[in-house]
Amino acid sequence: MTHENNTDSQVIGQKIYSLIEKLYPICRSITGNGVRETIKILQEYIPLEIKEIPTGTKVFDWAVPKEWNIKNAYIKNSKGEKIIDFQKSNLHVINYSIPINQKMNLQELQPHLHTLPKHPDWIPYLTSYYKENWGFCLTHNQYKELTEDIYEVVIDSSLTEGSLTYGELFLPGDSSEEILFTCYICHPSLCNDNLSGTAILTFLAQELQQKKRIKSYRFLFLVETIGAITWLALNQDKIQHIKAGIVAVDLGDAGPMTYKKTKTDHTLINQIVEQVLSETNKPYTIREFSPLGSDERQFCSPGINLNIGSLMRSHYDVYPQYHTSADDLSFMDQNALTDSLNIFREITFIIEHNQTFQNSNPHCEPQLGRRGVYSHIGGQKERNIDTKALFWLLNYSDGNHSLLDISCLSKIPFRKMNDAAEILLQTGLLYPQIQ
Ligand code: ZN
Repeated sequence: MTHENNTDSQVIGQKIYSLIEKLYPICRSITGNGVRETIKILQEYIPLEIKEIPTGTKVFDWAVPKEWNIKNAYIKNSKGEKIIDFQKSNLHVINYSIPINQKMNLQELQPHLHTLPKHPDWIPYLTSYYKENWGFCLTHNQYKELTEDIYEVVIDSSLTEGSLTYGELFLPGDSSEEILFTCYICHPSLCNDNLSGTAILTFLAQELQQKKRIKSYRFLFLVETIGAITWLALNQDKIQHIKAGIVAVDLGDAGPMTYKKTKTDHTLINQIVEQVLSETNKPYTIREFSPLGSDERQFCSPGINLNIGSLMRSHYDVYPQYHTSADDLSFMDQNALTDSLNIFREITFIIEHNQTFQNSNPHCEPQLGRRGVYSHIGGQKERNIDTKALFWLLNYSDGNHSLLDISCLSKIPFRKMNDAAEILLQTGLLYPQIQ
């Protein structure tokens, strides 16, 4: 890698990190102003459309819930000291807590307190979206210091008729076939899960927007579960155009990449992602589909049945910081963020360039010298044409093997195969298979 490339990747890593840094303090949830504020910040980068779906809207077996907002929350002891303060960390309140303003003793308060005894310095992240409840999350060390006292317990929140908010960006291409990239923007101050996916998709969308595109791309910045269900229920006419997609999660930690495959095996998106990961020459893990995890649960449900995989670094069941205050900015690795974006860039490069060709001279090998192949290569020294790729392409371009298939078979990187195909196209030795 050249010095210039190193500098470029440092710059992009810093840009992704600073977007995460901007979004980190906001208290998000599955509805409410935190989601709106988040989308407004993303709109500084990409022209996201903001959609508001009213409370009570029926979406398949669900209904859009009441909108939750919170101004403040604390627990004060009898000396008037704030011993738990929402302003210090929005994880201190169970997300979607109903409002409360009461004095109570320790015994009455205790059932509403949640800690992580195994990690006594960390605050857990808990939600109660669909059951009206209230509670506080605190470090186990804070909990151990609580004494018999009369506590003032305040959660200044509201649950009202409002709406569910999401952001959408559609980038049309020459083809009506769509690729879907989704992430979720409902988690409050947590970085890997999933400000990392949010930031990576923002920069991917920004880059794709500036390029000429063959495929169409749809980016959804949803709230998890109810957001995906809502989008699918209200956009059933669009589902048929979605040929493949990826849910982007947990992309900023220093761990190796993990790909969770689509529910149907042998899909093009699985083949593309596995090719890209194998070309990195770094360790990675492939996981089979399971109906647990993020919004792939909805996208791959039997009535929707889309080919959607999920790309992450460390799987959430592997890293202990998951859903705790330790998933903070210090857990983000700028090199990993750059690497994750690069993987998405390579995936879209293959999506855009994968084609199937026919050999126009299929009876034995053509005489490459006479056909001017080597003089074309001479003129493109900087691209470093792999002559082995020429032989693979000529042999396998029978209309049944795509560039990606030939790249997989030969272990020659896709970009090298694509460069070699361009030479053979220029000399007339290949022609595109009419689909
Ligand atoms: Zn989560």
